[in-house]
Amino acid sequence: VGGLEEAKERIRQLEAKLRSLDARIPRAFPDVTGGAGFVGSHLVDTLMRAGHEVIVVDNFFTGRKQNVEHWTRHENFELIHQDIVNPIFIEVDEIYHLASPASPPHYMYNPVKTIKTNTIGTINILGLAKRVGAKVLIASTSEVYGDPEVHPQPETYWGHVNPIGPRACYDEGKRIAETLSYAYAKHDKVVVRVARIFNTYGPRMHMDDGRVVSNFILQALRNETITVYGHGKQTRSFQYVSDLVDGLIALMNSNYTQPINIGNPIEHSIEEFAFIIKKLVGGSNPIKRTKAVEDDPQRRKPDITRARLHLNWEPKVSLQVGLQRTIAYFRQELQHSVGGIVK
Ligand code: NAD
Ligand code: UDP
Repeated sequence: VGGLEEAKERIRQLEAKLRSLDARIPRAFPDVTGGAGFVGSHLVDTLMRAGHEVIVVDNFFTGRKQNVEHWTRHENFELIHQDIVNPIFIEVDEIYHLASPASPPHYMYNPVKTIKTNTIGTINILGLAKRVGAKVLIASTSEVYGDPEVHPQPETYWGHVNPIGPRACYDEGKRIAETLSYAYAKHDKVVVRVARIFNTYGPRMHMDDGRVVSNFILQALRNETITVYGHGKQTRSFQYVSDLVDGLIALMNSNYTQPINIGNPIEHSIEEFAFIIKKLVGGSNPIKRTKAVEDDPQRRKPDITRARLHLNWEPKVSLQVGLQRTIAYFRQELQHSVGGIVK
């Protein structure tokens, strides 16, 4: 009898231990659309490390299996190859909706597809959220402000977007994605969060995505001319990817329902940025002004008062540190690619 009681007591202790371990793991089953992309894959890393069961839905238009391959054998991870323009049937309780090309050359490559992804795709995701009762975070963008007439940009600013310009497929696509989110929230009681993401950089950015960070780093590493489009006085404010991931998770877990800017408010002109990269990489390659691009927003800097107040969030990684990590990544990628590296 003593042995039985001892065994029962041991089982009780083990059950209590299991319960306490369980309580430490947040019981969320997030889906990350676009999770094989640059931002998505970093978000997946953080969610997986926190013990969540993560499903990635991606059509690999700009994403790579390689970005998430370190999780493919993990029992908490699932990778679904699907285009979000088609309805999706999965069981989840949180959705980080990131699927959309993000760099201007990628989203301009097929403007109709970009519009479909951000409109029909977002309807599918909000419909899924409605069906399963999941909370949705929409990855919107600073591009909803267009070429802004208000500086820095607060969330209350309605924007200045050319509806028929080359950037419209993305800008208007994201604006309608926001509109859809609040329509589903109002009409169908879907719980939505809207992050207006400003220029983000870091390892796993596409080498050939044509954005300023990747272009300048590659040009500097290859000893090529650094190409500043137009006069170079246009500005951007760059945030490191880990800061963005922290902001997205804080927003998902908050009770704040209005759109919120997630970006680094330190602003640089593009010309200045070219000098910063050149100095960090080292070398004597020239910086040259080339033709300006159409509808290029002239100034961009987030007002992050809301994020500070409601999420207790602000960026932590300095441009110097973030760029050094990114340059190290590009250097490594170049070493593994055909043709090798110059510096
Ligand atoms: P990315 O191109 O690296 O990732 C996008 C991912 O979405 C890719 O894996 C791609 O294959 C996938 N995808 C695209 N269309 C799809 C479709 N129809 N169905 C399924 N998957 C699809 O871009 P990113 O920089 O990681 O951006 C992620 C999100 O953040 C995007 O929604 C983007 O608009 C937003 N955002 C990014 C930035 C930035 O600076 N990186 C700035 C503002 C907003
Ligand atoms: N840009 C540049 N040279 C390049 C690539 C971009 O001068 O090789 C400029 C571009 O005209 C814009 C800024 O850098 O003013 C940021 O461009 P990017 O495509 O990275 O993102 P955007 O903020 O315009 O979406």
